[in-house]
Amino acid sequence: MSSFKADVVIVGGGFAGVTAARELTQRGASVILLEARDRLGGRTWTRDSDLGKSLDFGGTWVHWIQPHVWAEIERYGLPLVNSPSPDTALWQSGGQVKRGTAEEMFALLDPGMTAVLADSAALFPNPYRIHPMSDEVKGIDDITVAEKINELGLDDEQQALVEGMWALNFSGRPEVSAYSQGLRWCALTGGNWQLLFEACASFKLADGTKALLDAMTAQTTADIRLNTRVRGISSGTDGARVELTTGEVVTARQVIVTLPLNILNSIDFTPALPSDLRAVAREGQASTGCKVWVRVKGSIGHVAALGPSSCPLNFFQFEYDVDGDSLIVAFGPDAHAIDITDRAAVETALQQWIPDIEVLAIDAHDWVADELARQTWPMLRPNQLEAVQTAAHSAFGRVRLAGSDYAEGWAGFIDGAIESGKRVAVRALADLHP
Ligand SMILES: Cc1cc2nc3c(=O)[nH]c(=O)nc-3n(C[C@H](O)[C@H](O)[C@H](O)COP(=O)(O)OP(=O)(O)OC[C@H]3O[C@@H](n4cnc5c(N)ncnc54)[C@H](O)[C@@H]3O)c2cc1C
Repeated sequence: MSSFKADVVIVGGGFAGVTAARELTQRGASVILLEARDRLGGRTWTRDSDLGKSLDFGGTWVHWIQPHVWAEIERYGLPLVNSPSPDTALWQSGGQVKRGTAEEMFALLDPGMTAVLADSAALFPNPYRIHPMSDEVKGIDDITVAEKINELGLDDEQQALVEGMWALNFSGRPEVSAYSQGLRWCALTGGNWQLLFEACASFKLADGTKALLDAMTAQTTADIRLNTRVRGISSGTDGARVELTTGEVVTARQVIVTLPLNILNSIDFTPALPSDLRAVAREGQASTGCKVWVRVKGSIGHVAALGPSSCPLNFFQFEYDVDGDSLIVAFGPDAHAIDITDRAAVETALQQWIPDIEVLAIDAHDWVADELARQTWPMLRPNQLEAVQTAAHSAFGRVRLAGSDYAEGWAGFIDGAIESGKRVAVRALADLHP
């Protein structure tokens, strides 16, 4: 391999890949970005919907407490909008739906959430420096969030709410979700779970996440190749060969791979990636839930609902008024528990909450069925953190891994994808110019 097609090949054009491309090309490196889809953005996707509005089908909410994404929003001066604050809350207890104010629901959540997260600052005193893992974190990394909740002896009403909140946070079932992951998140908000909730559900980019993606993409000279899927990467002493599914080979001095962890094993790496990381990818993360946008007949008010993980749609909130109808966004912890392309199934799930609700139309993308994702936002299971963080800080020959899955801070968020893309770009540059 005497002459390379690029200094760096980036595999995947989500926020991590686009960030790395911008950082590298702005510092003079030549970059080829290979993206299997016919669009950039990966697990963010702003598109026209069947519901009367352009919507975000993947990542959506951003917050000023997330430093990397907020810096980008400010840099490009992008407008934001707020999700409406709920004035009515629905929750469940003893098989009954309860109705109250959002403040009443938060008051019921508070003791359990505070107790679950009590050790966040002690275990993660600097949540941006979690690698190498401390012995204290290693000591609790085999515990699930469900186990932690069950220790608390909450009454049924509080238990259902706290368990449901963690199912929402993980986009997955609390019984497979790592307690350490919950603590990491909350450490980023100084231990304040309500701020954590606000970060996940308050500010949206007015023109969708695509506005930020487009602004960042406009500032890279990378050769971006869509509809280009990688099947193998072999790393040699002075460079790497990236093999496409068409059989074409692209050579580069460095390679950055940004695949979601659940599909990492879909690329054949030579030499192989570490066995513990491959095992984590095989096991998969906890985040296998769903998100669906729903147009509901008439006005249902500024409602938010939170129920236990046994509800196929255990959270929804009002987002927009569209010609007198209500547009709500709903989440469930298990994409296999409900067909989010089936209007009647979504209506039945929402009628558990509001019996006379009438669903006019739905629109969603099933990220778990999507062979280029197989997960929603990255949230680890027990005993996965060390292998993932070690990989995030390693080079495998000429290959490095990046993406929200490998972030230190807001892993699971757009912020984490940007953080990781920046860090790995700097390391790749250092490798190019030792
Ligand atoms: C439903 C949902 C809701 C979310 N909500 C929020 C939110 O409100 N706020 C927030 O901050 N975050 C949210 N997230 C998370 C956020 O969207 C992701 O963490 C982030 O976008 C991941 O970016 P990434 O670049 O790391 O990975 P991805 O965006 O997954 O990028 C990886 C890219 O690699 C491509 N690829 C895969 N295989 C190959 C291959 N073999 N060859 C070439 N290309 C390949 C994929 O097509 C993809 O484009 C949400 C995610 C989902 C799915």
